[in-house]
Amino acid sequence: MTAGRDSAVGEQGAAKPVRAAKKAKAESHLGMVRRARKINRALAEVYPYAHPELDFEDPFQLLVATVLSAQTTDLRVNQTTPALFAAYPTPEDMAAAVPEELEEIIRPTGFFRAKARSLLGLATALRDDFGGEVPGRIEDLVKLPGVGRKTANVVLGNYFGVPGITVDTHFGRLVRRWKWTDEEDPVKVEAVVAEIFPKSEWTMLSHRVVFHGRRICHSRKPACGACPIAALCPSYGEGETDPQKAEKLLKYEKGGYPGQRLKPPQSFLDAGGKPAPPLGAGPAAP
Ligand code: SF4
Repeated sequence: MTAGRDSAVGEQGAAKPVRAAKKAKAESHLGMVRRARKINRALAEVYPYAHPELDFEDPFQLLVATVLSAQTTDLRVNQTTPALFAAYPTPEDMAAAVPEELEEIIRPTGFFRAKARSLLGLATALRDDFGGEVPGRIEDLVKLPGVGRKTANVVLGNYFGVPGITVDTHFGRLVRRWKWTDEEDPVKVEAVVAEIFPKSEWTMLSHRVVFHGRRICHSRKPACGACPIAALCPSYGEGETDPQKAEKLLKYEKGGYPGQRLKPPQSFLDAGGKPAPPLGAGPAAP
């Protein structure tokens, strides 16, 4: 994929980021809001199949997978959870797990001792305080061991249909690159972005932004020269601007590789995306 004809990418590419940055500095709040909404619309066209990248079949699985996803990739979590949920399909089963056996299963996700403690605490709290059901209110979810606002919003947005903005490392980095905010604190970022977009957009916006961060606008090497929203980005030029070199930086389906889910939604497969391989079946992406 290359940047569109109307993008900031061009033969004079070196000069354009400076102009774009100056323009962003002088931008009014209303101008920024309009540009942010354009970015969201453009991302909706680039990632019509955007979705949560954790495999899950019920809210308990989503909650557990989200806790496991700290400090690792969703791919690694997805490769680990089939064995985990086969062994402990319900909160009651997991609450009764032998800690060492649970640790062994989740070892591939890293920090497995701490994560096992979180899962045991979480499953026990679900069993004892919520009748074995995952609650659908943020004030209850954040009381569960190992569950913060981000995890609660993931569960609310993706299972309960409650709009939520999920500020993870990708989301924070991208919205700062786009000058929607300078805030570093995820709760403040969430509040700023909530003012820019109607609630109905929050969950899908979160998926689109994270998709873009994982595939194109990477932390260390953003692929600016292959970025379809370059014309709307004041940070164009922070990464590789040469279209051919930038193309090589693309990941997952944008680079022609498998995605992160072993069981992706049909919309992803229809768009040419490939499922991730199971654990030990070889690398899924560079
Ligand atoms: S890849 Fe470059 S141009 Fe695209 S959003 Fe990221 S910083 Fe902006």
